[in-house]
Amino acid sequence: MPELPEVETVCRGLAPHLTGRRIESVLCRRPDLRFPLPEMSVLHGRICERVERRGKYLQFLFGDLMLVWHLGMTGRFHVLSASAPLQPHEHVRLTLSGGDCLIYRDARRFGYAGLMPVDCWQTHPWFANLGPEPLADDFNAAYLASCCKGRKGPIKPLLMHAQMVVGVGNIYACEALFRAGIHPQRAAGRIARGRLQRLVQAVREVLAEAIASGGSTISDFARVDGSPGYFAHSFAVYGREGEPCGICGKSIRRSLQAGRSTFYCADCQH
Ligand SMILES: [Zn+2]
Repeated sequence: MPELPEVETVCRGLAPHLTGRRIESVLCRRPDLRFPLPEMSVLHGRICERVERRGKYLQFLFGDLMLVWHLGMTGRFHVLSASAPLQPHEHVRLTLSGGDCLIYRDARRFGYAGLMPVDCWQTHPWFANLGPEPLADDFNAAYLASCCKGRKGPIKPLLMHAQMVVGVGNIYACEALFRAGIHPQRAAGRIARGRLQRLVQAVREVLAEAIASGGSTISDFARVDGSPGYFAHSFAVYGREGEPCGICGKSIRRSLQAGRSTFYCADCQH
């Protein structure tokens, strides 16, 4: 399942291929993915002005209309020559001015898309309750402290809650808590402000590093031949149960928390 860094990498990979291009034709090979597809033909003749990301949604801006796309689990965008043959699991093809086409492939079809007016997308149900972007200024220690105040529940599920902050999935929550030295089971309301500041910094770092490591594979997302291309990082704790902690050498532990595997070092995180 693509996480925020992968979606950001897709966004950055697509932007130069789409910006300024006119939609010459629209072909949807089925009426629905996870949900019914929007009336894509209204994009015909429109020019893509920008490609952006909010949470795990891609946003394609076409004048007063925004095409919003969620990749689900197996969704992929590719930019190919307009003459490229039909690809496996290709569901949508937008032919672009300049001789390319944008295709959307999705083997499991958990992806979904919508069209909405640019001036009110923030109030759409997909966006209305999203917390701040983790790399934006409004995700800061004061904000995190206000979210944690009085909470007896553990910090990790809170960190993964999209209403609190978007895009911190299980992997990045584990990594950020390790880097900040905070035990994933610690009650959110009992973490000192200085440690929350470190956690904010750690979240930013692990996501920024993941995005940076994706940079070298951006072309794989944009102009490909079918290989999935999602990058495998090396993580400090995630997936490393029983391996020595890189700081203290004790074994990394795994526990189940809210149904998800949590990896941590009991010595370095408290
Ligand atoms: Zn350790």
